[in-house]
Amino acid sequence: MKEKVPFSKPYRSENEAKFIEEVLNSGKTAGGGKYTQLTQNFIENQIGGNCLLTNSCTAALEISALLLDIQAGDEIILPSYTFPSSANAFLLRGATIKFVDSQANHPNMDLNHLEELISEKTKAIVPMYYGGVSSDWQRLKALHEKHKFYIIEEAAQAYGASYFNKPLGYLGDLAVFSFHETKNISCGEGGALIVNKKEWIEPAEIIWEKGTNRAAFKRGEIDKYEWVALGSSYVNSELNAAYLLAQFEQSSYWLEERKKQWNYYFEQLSFLEEKGILLPQIPDFANHNAHIFYLVLNSTEELQALKNHLSENGIDALTHYRCLHKSSYFRDKYEGEELLNAEKFESRLLRLPLHSDVPLEYVASKIIDFFRAQ
Ligand SMILES: *Cc1c(COP(=O)(O)O)cnc(C)c1O
Repeated sequence: MKEKVPFSKPYRSENEAKFIEEVLNSGKTAGGGKYTQLTQNFIENQIGGNCLLTNSCTAALEISALLLDIQAGDEIILPSYTFPSSANAFLLRGATIKFVDSQANHPNMDLNHLEELISEKTKAIVPMYYGGVSSDWQRLKALHEKHKFYIIEEAAQAYGASYFNKPLGYLGDLAVFSFHETKNISCGEGGALIVNKKEWIEPAEIIWEKGTNRAAFKRGEIDKYEWVALGSSYVNSELNAAYLLAQFEQSSYWLEERKKQWNYYFEQLSFLEEKGILLPQIPDFANHNAHIFYLVLNSTEELQALKNHLSENGIDALTHYRCLHKSSYFRDKYEGEELLNAEKFESRLLRLPLHSDVPLEYVASKIIDFFRAQ
C-alpha cells in the first residue's frame, strides 16, 4: 500500500470561512479593524507586550530594523542557518551582518561563537528559535546586560513555545512571528511584531502604518493624520486577521496534537541514535511547539537515499536551509570563518511531514524499513 503524504498542510477549523464572510459583508477589508484588534489582543494575552499584526514575519523584521534606526556601520549578529528574511531586513538598512554558527547538536545559535563575534558596533542580536526551541535565555540575558545590544527574538517558527514557563516573544526587546501557510498557525501570509518596550509602541505603530500617525487618528486621539516618520505598508488585512483568529481559537488543541505526533516519531525512531543519527535535542529549559521533526543523517548520500526511499513511497521529506553565508547572494561578501555546524545541518538534516493528516505509523515504518535493509 502506497500513500500520498505531503510535507505540510495548513490546519482548518470551522470558523475561518465564517469570520472571513463576516468581514466581506462588512465592507471593511483593510487592516486595523475588529479582527485585527481581537487577534492582537489574543496574542498579547498569550505572550504579553504590545502586538502589531503584520502581513508577514519579514515585515515585522523590517519594522524592527527601522525602529532600532539601524545605520551603516551597525553590526547585527544572526545565525547562518536561517531563512534569508532574518538578514535582509538589516541589510536593507545598510547594516553589517555577522553570521554565527549553529550548535554541534542543534541548529540554534552557538552562544560561545556568538560571544566571540560581539564588538562595540554590535547593535542587535537575532536568536532564531529553530523548530520552536528556545535559546538559553540565562546566557542571553547576561550578555544583554553586559553589552547593551538589543535582542530581537526571531520566533517565526516558535508561536506557543516557551523558555521554562515564559512564552517566547516575551523575553527580547522585540520579537517576530510568522503565520505563513507552512507554520503551525497560519493565515496564508501573515506575521506579528511584539514590542516589549513601552516607549517603542507608538513609533512602531507609525512605521507599521506607512510612516503616518493613522492608528492614533483611528482611535480618535488626533483629528487628522499625516506623514510623521519613515515607514512602509506592513499592516495585515482584516481578511487575514479573521482567518488567523479562527486558527488561534483552536491553537492549543492543535499544539497538543502536534506534540503527540512529534513524540511518536521520537519514540519510534530513537533507535537510530545507535546508528549515529541525530534526533532533535530539546534542552531542559525549552518547552517546544513541535514545529519540526527532523533527522540529521551521517552523510549527504545517506540523506539522499532516505529521501528517495520516502519519495518512492509517496512521502515528502524536505531539506533546508542553504546557509546564508554560502548563498549565491552572500558568499562573495562573506569574510568570516567556516561555519561547519551550520553546513552540517544544511547537508544532512531531513524534515519529516508533520500535520493532522500524516499516517505516522506508515511514515515511521518506511524509515525503519530503510535502515533494516542496510
Ligand atoms: C517562515 C520563516 C520566515 C518568513 O516568514 P514570513 O511570514 O513568510 O515572512 C522567517 N524566518 C524564519 C526562521 C522562518 O521560518
